[in-house]
Amino acid sequence: MTFHTPNIQNFDLLIVGGGILGTFHAYHALRKGLKVALLEKDGLPVGATVRNFGQVVPSGMNAKWQPLGRRSLEIYQTIQQQFDISVRQNGSIYLASDADEMTLLEEIHAIHRDRGYPCELWTGTHCMHYLAPLKEDYCLGGLYYPQEITLEPTLAIHRILHHLQSRYGLHYRPSTPVIHLDTDGQRAIAEDITGKKWAASQAIVCTGADFNYLFPHLFAEAPLELCKLHMMQTRSYPDVHLPGSILTGLTIRRYESFQECPSYAAIKAIESENNLLKEFGIHILFKQALDGSVIIGDSHEYAPVSERHLLDYHIDNQIQNEILQEAQRIIHLPDWSIERQWFGVYTQCTEGDIYHKTLAERIHIITGIGGKGMTASPGYAEQTIQSLWK
Ligand SMILES: Cc1cc2nc3c(=O)[nH]c(=O)nc-3n(C[C@H](O)[C@H](O)[C@H](O)COP(=O)(O)OP(=O)(O)OC[C@H]3O[C@@H](n4cnc5c(N)ncnc54)[C@H](O)[C@@H]3O)c2cc1C
Repeated sequence: MTFHTPNIQNFDLLIVGGGILGTFHAYHALRKGLKVALLEKDGLPVGATVRNFGQVVPSGMNAKWQPLGRRSLEIYQTIQQQFDISVRQNGSIYLASDADEMTLLEEIHAIHRDRGYPCELWTGTHCMHYLAPLKEDYCLGGLYYPQEITLEPTLAIHRILHHLQSRYGLHYRPSTPVIHLDTDGQRAIAEDITGKKWAASQAIVCTGADFNYLFPHLFAEAPLELCKLHMMQTRSYPDVHLPGSILTGLTIRRYESFQECPSYAAIKAIESENNLLKEFGIHILFKQALDGSVIIGDSHEYAPVSERHLLDYHIDNQIQNEILQEAQRIIHLPDWSIERQWFGVYTQCTEGDIYHKTLAERIHIITGIGGKGMTASPGYAEQTIQSLWK
């Protein structure tokens, strides 16, 4: 039900934050015919949602999240059929660099095949045919997921928001920081930085790593931490072909899905602890963007939410050099000319796998989705909206 009060705009749902989580909550609510407003503090969203690889990889998720990731694949594809949001179904390939990683690929292949998730175990030779730039001495074999997709992170969110406005009538307000959010018993009421008020029967807060501006006391106590990731992007290589998401040996040792493998614990127990790759949480992922450039990353440095200042604001050359050296062990590129470097920050839960807290039955704070937001948000948001509007 929509209430009417003079000087306050009324909606069924008010969303704070135009990253991937906020945007997909808007999508599902709009498809239910609800009147939705989305308030984003920046002129264009520039948080984790535009700083990532754009890899949509349910294969990396555990048994609980993989179905949400697979549902997200369907949702992205549905939108792509209506409007170009930069989705490409170009698959994901995991590359094993040694016998232990190959064992994990074989084990996860059996698990995912039994769960009905299509995947193909490939020999090293098959991988070389598929990925011409791959170095022969790196790859023992691979596991390929044909259904997985990539997005262009700097394009997708803007196009999805555009689509939601033009097709479904989303009231999208960029450059509109929300400075206060509360309830009056019947409605959630937000105040933006100009003093304008917005009311709705429900509000969803997806403010990513900027949680400290709204509900600071709540978040000071929340089981959340920040994670800073280093990234880089090469110049455009029109003659290099690196299709889809490319995930390598250290990723096999890191991603949640592999924790289901019978050999995982024993393989992790004998890993060497004393190296910079481990210290900086580095694993190597590649994704070739539409313009032919290659996005390479990443590292992981953590800080408690109360000590955000521990994550420096600068790019660390030592970390970038470690990423680059490991990447050069895996593929050939013509000159490794790096044109852009950046870092991104996301929040993740220290207890559980997402932070979802409801205040006064009307305000739902949802953040801390960690490194799986581009993959799981469309599916997760669908569940939230279904539970609020049954
Ligand atoms: C480097 C990097 C690589 C990654 N790679 C991948 C990948 O390939 N695949 C994958 O699945 N995931 C990946 N992730 C994770 C994924 O990007 C995040 O999980 C996801 O983007 C989080 O989305 P979000 O909407 O919660 O946060 P954000 O994208 O940070 O969005 C929050 C939004 O809220 C807005 N906001 C904050 N406060 C206010 C306020 N008071 N008023 C109004 N607006 C406000 C912000 O401006 C921002 O736009 C990666 C993350 C990083 C950093």
